[in-house]
Amino acid sequence: MGYLGGFLVSLRQIGRKQRVTTQYPEEKAPKALRVHGRHVLNRYEDGMEKCIGCELCAGVCPARCIYVRGAENDPDAPVSPGERYGYIYEINYLRCIHCDLCVEACPTEAITESKMFEFSFTSRADAIYTKAELVVDDSGMPQRLPWEDWRPGEDLNTSAWMRATAPSGSAEFEGVVGWSGELGYGLRAPEADQIQKDAITSAHGDHGHDDHDDHDDHGHGGH
Ligand code: SF4
Ligand code: SF4
Repeated sequence: MGYLGGFLVSLRQIGRKQRVTTQYPEEKAPKALRVHGRHVLNRYEDGMEKCIGCELCAGVCPARCIYVRGAENDPDAPVSPGERYGYIYEINYLRCIHCDLCVEACPTEAITESKMFEFSFTSRADAIYTKAELVVDDSGMPQRLPWEDWRPGEDLNTSAWMRATAPSGSAEFEGVVGWSGELGYGLRAPEADQIQKDAITSAHGDHGHDDHDDHDDHGHGGH
């Protein structure tokens, strides 16, 4: 009788609930705002690369899957603002666990994660993404590699969760958007609860309010 009881449990579901099963991969369920997917290396709105080759991301990575080497910028043709840039940057996706610690460690918001995690490889070489593959294109969008299954919206809000946390861990910035502009996006929109927090911060006359006003004035890249 035990197995008949099991059938009864299943039969009771008929007509009761909406089905949640989808035909994957033809149908994809919407992804949460803060899903961690494949990384991108961001650029500033003027096209300069944000990575300064400091290797902090490689140092913090628990899976030891980032390899970075920095190089001195040519003063006449700098790749990034400052003295150095990342001239070698690799992530091994056979190891990455998408913890986003690299994103958190990055002092310039150079490395973030998209929402796209549907990618598979037939060779080890394809699994090791190089800087040429990770850096966003001239419109600021992630490059679409042949083995990746991008869907609309998966290039938006890269590492949105990061923008909800305090830059460099400073409690003064809690709820205040301290994110620099990105090529193709401008200054990204804060999350809904950040607006509330900023309003509270404003009411208290606390640090960071002027910074948020600047962001609102500039718009958010049209997304
Ligand atoms: S997401 Fe985590 S595991 Fe992946 S590269 Fe970044 S620090 Fe390493
Ligand atoms: S991605 Fe960020 S943390 Fe990593 S080397 Fe570049 S600037 Fe440093």
